[in-house]
Order: sequence, then C-alpha cells, then structure tokens
Amino acid sequence: MKAPRARRKAIAAPSSLDDLFASRSKDKTFLAEAKAHVIEKNANDNSRRQDIIHPSEVAKASWCPRATYQRIETGIHHKEKFGFQSLNIFDSGHEAHRKWQNRAWSTGWLEGNFKCLNCEQLWWDKSPATCDRCSSSALEYAEVPLRAVPTHRIAGHADGLLTPIRKILEIKTVGEGTYRYENPKLLARHTHKDAEGRPYVDVKGLWTDTRVPFPSHVRQVQIYIWLANTFMQLEVDGAEFIYESKMNQDVKSFTIKANFDVIADRIALCQEINERLGKNDPPACPKGGCKDCNAYEESDDGPARRRGTNPGADDRETPAGEGAETPAAARRGRSRTHPGSDRTRRRRTDVDLCGDDQLGRVRRNSARPGGSRREAG
Ligand SMILES: [Zn+2]
Ligand SMILES: [Zn+2]
Repeated sequence: MKAPRARRKAIAAPSSLDDLFASRSKDKTFLAEAKAHVIEKNANDNSRRQDIIHPSEVAKASWCPRATYQRIETGIHHKEKFGFQSLNIFDSGHEAHRKWQNRAWSTGWLEGNFKCLNCEQLWWDKSPATCDRCSSSALEYAEVPLRAVPTHRIAGHADGLLTPIRKILEIKTVGEGTYRYENPKLLARHTHKDAEGRPYVDVKGLWTDTRVPFPSHVRQVQIYIWLANTFMQLEVDGAEFIYESKMNQDVKSFTIKANFDVIADRIALCQEINERLGKNDPPACPKGGCKDCNAYEESDDGPARRRGTNPGADDRETPAGEGAETPAAARRGRSRTHPGSDRTRRRRTDVDLCGDDQLGRVRRNSARPGGSRREAG
C-alpha cells in the first residue's frame, strides 16, 4: 500500500545545513537513552563480590588494606561513580576480552571453565567445540577461577589459561588514561606541543616506547600465577599479556615468568586481613589515611555501622557457584616447588606498597611462532 502523498509534502526541506543537523532539546535521541541506561545499569550492578579480596585491588599501587578490611567487615562498598565515557571504555575493554578469548578458543589454545548455555553445565576443558553432556554448541567461556579464601580471602578469575605454553592469559586494553595512572612519566615524555602551543600525545611514539607491562598489571598476574600453582593444582610457569591500544588498536604481547618477590608483601597483608576479620581490628592504612579508608571512618555514625555485615545480596553465585567453579577435572599432579605461601608468610606488614617496582625480567615477544610447543592431548 502506498503512503499518503499529503504527508510527504508536509515535511519542508531544510533551508540550511544547520537546520538539517540541529536537534531541538526536547527531541528524544537514542544516544541520550543509551547513556542513561548504561549509567543506571552500572549504578544498580551488585554482581561483583564484596566479601573477598580481589587480586586487581591488591595489585594497585595505591591499594589500602584498611579499606579492603572495612569493606569486607561492614559489607559496604563505597562504589566509585563513573561517567558515561568511562563506562563506555570499560565496555570496549570487555569486548576486547571476548575477542581475544575467542581467538584463543578457535586456535585450540584456550583452557578453563566452559559453560553450556543449553544444559547449564560448567566444566573444565581445552577449547571444546560442543558440550560434552548435551552436545550443544552454544558455549560460553567462564575463565579460570583462582582463589585462596580460607587462608587469604583472595578470589578472582584469570582471563585465560593457554594450554600449549602453560601460561596465564591476561588481556589489557591500554589508553591515555592507563598511562596517566600507571606511568605518567612515559606519557609526559610523549606529550608535545603543536605550533600553537596546544599539548598533544604522540600516540605512535608512546606505544613504541611501551616495552614492559605496567607494574600493577604484573602484580595482578603474579597473584594469579601464585594462586594457580599453590592452591588450584594448575601448573603454570608464567603469563602472556596481550596489550591492545585503545588509541589505534595496535597489539603487542609480553611474556613474564613467575616472580613472587613482587607480591610477597601484599600476599602477607591479605593473610593478615583474613586473620583480623571478625575481630574489629582493621590493619593500618599505609598512608596514615587515604580516600579509600577515610570513606569508612567518616561513616562511623552513619548507615555504615547500622548495616553491619554483608546482607548477602551480592552472593547469588555462592556458595553453590563456588564448588561448581572449581576446575576439579584439571588435576595435573603436584606442581613444582614454588616459593609460595611459606615465603610470603614471613614478610609482614608496614611495607611501602607504593615503593619502586622491581619487576624482574620481562621479555617482549617478537613474532613468535605459534604452537611450537603444543602438548599432546
Ligand atoms: Zn550442555
Ligand atoms: Zn587508606
């Protein structure tokens, strides 16, 4: 059926380009709707567990063990508020994770937990094509659960385990903001002024000069390697980082070996937090007070104290999920002797967590031939 002609005539041609692109403020746009949705969804998202210590928080240069203790003890998370641009960046980061995990999966390199979307089975496998229970091909990668809850309260997930090289896979998207936080000196070195004196970042030079992974990324992955070997019976001898630039999608990778010296102090602090929990005995802030732990001090007579312990609203997946996540089928025999818990135990608190990072040897990968050391089976 033809549209009535009269209606078409009613739309006047714009008299200028300005008229064509101008949108009146009362006009509804999809972008405005999507932004509001993304911000609201993030504000209501309570899926991240708050009753355990996350390796990513421990790895941060500015980590405050006191704030972590208070968060677990009170069950209150002083959630950082993010604007749309930050949330958009996070979503792109998640997409990049899926992209690289899918590539590892299709090359047969991806090991870990897989979830069947048809029968909901969660099982440990190496790059399966179908569910081994119902044969469905609707699968989802559920990463590599790593934890030491009874002893250290730590729990997290590595992005992947690379079967042929027995390394943790860690994917990082890196943008200007990452440098500003992780290596401001390097960013400054590649920030210049144009003819009119306006600053700009030499993106190419900055990327070329990124020759080692950032210290907090290295610490995070060392915690994963330590957890994998010491608590999960997964024999892992290092990690491969995939760094993807948010500025031009250029990609490079770094391989690091296990080196627990860079995390020993922090692991000892996790153990200390675990021992103090339930005794109303928070550890000291390394800075003698910071914005993270002050948030808890200030709420002493506010709702923070009244709410008491974690109401458990965030624990949809536990404890049932805990057991299911264990890579029980992945027993690879006792791991080699690693300088694990014994060594980390001896070092105690009052350390300079923000100190200079001795990260040991880091090797930049160059055109490495894939799959040359692939294991049988
Ligand atoms: Zn299935
Ligand atoms: Zn603090």
